[in-house]
Amino acid sequence: MKQIALLGATGSIGVSALDVAKAHPDEYHIVALSAGRNGDLLVRQIEAFRPAAVAVLNKSVAAEVSSHLPERNRPEVFVGIEGFVRLATLDSVDTVVSAMTGAAGLMPTYEAIKAGKHIALANKETMVMAGPLVMAEARKRGVSILPIDSEHSAILQSLRGHLRTDLKRVILTASGGPFKDLSLEDMRQVTAAQALRHPNWQMGPKVTIDSATLMNKGLEVIEARWLFDLRMDQIDILIHPQSILHSMVEYRDGSVIGQMGIPDMTLPIAYALSYPRHLSNGLPRLDLEKIGDLSFRKPDLKRFRCLKLALQAATTGGSMPAVLNGANEIAVDAFLKGRIGFLDIPDLIEKTMDAHASSPVETIEAVMAADRWARDTAMGQLSKRFVK
Ligand code: MG
Repeated sequence: MKQIALLGATGSIGVSALDVAKAHPDEYHIVALSAGRNGDLLVRQIEAFRPAAVAVLNKSVAAEVSSHLPERNRPEVFVGIEGFVRLATLDSVDTVVSAMTGAAGLMPTYEAIKAGKHIALANKETMVMAGPLVMAEARKRGVSILPIDSEHSAILQSLRGHLRTDLKRVILTASGGPFKDLSLEDMRQVTAAQALRHPNWQMGPKVTIDSATLMNKGLEVIEARWLFDLRMDQIDILIHPQSILHSMVEYRDGSVIGQMGIPDMTLPIAYALSYPRHLSNGLPRLDLEKIGDLSFRKPDLKRFRCLKLALQAATTGGSMPAVLNGANEIAVDAFLKGRIGFLDIPDLIEKTMDAHASSPVETIEAVMAADRWARDTAMGQLSKRFVK
């Protein structure tokens, strides 16, 4: 039975992960839950799963959560980043589901690896910011990092039973998001509400905006690079609007192995927890007859500059991917708040990257420093140029 700490329990991935745990009570025991500000939902989750410990963003959320629970059944409550780290490194935990949003997920995930916990990874920022450090630590401790991202789950499945020396390249698919056919002119006008309406996937707001800009695919390229030890020239991207073929691996004889399924995050979440088994679930089956056609095309880097910037940051390496990520988080937040337009997102990221001299990152502290620098610089750009 897996003893699980779930970081980001009240987010979209966290809620689905708890559904998986609930469906297989003999397989998974929820030891600990973390949330940011959503105390209401966390209280309901505590009542349903009775974890030994929880962690929340700050003292006021902690007080709110405690006040709603009878003293006898109250779990230990930790607070802040230190609290998330405490939760992820508890002795009684063997597996950490890393599903916090953004750069905040890096430290708890990294510390969990150092403490020898296996990781089911939804927080792709961990890999984007600190991939080489994280993978080196995981190798050293002998822990597995299994992806919850649907594309990476597809690659993992497509690599099984094949020789690594035969691999030619991986092909990540992308839905293209809600604006895949929109002209640059029309993109200028889109609102956060429109960008939050993803055609295929139900996800949290940050990753949904990243999907609309295709930054998400850029972050996933970097994630794939470290997770599967690939060179940048071994990773290609295809827009596949139906989101049925979740990614592929091409071998040197021209064979292409991919994984298909309905676009539902429950699948990669469950697989990361049950690997290498496929557990049964109550999801609708993939009905290819009903879907009819699957189509593929190259992404347009002129209209989707966030993807281009991500590929540039990956090629530059060092601290640049962390800077890309930090600037993107500031830009997406500003867009969601209506402070900047959709096309200002790549502008803000590009200006921040232009101002940065990339340096090697050999410690997690150096990564965090690059992240802070990117946020400060992007905020400065924002107040100078972008406020409407
Ligand atoms: Mg994905």
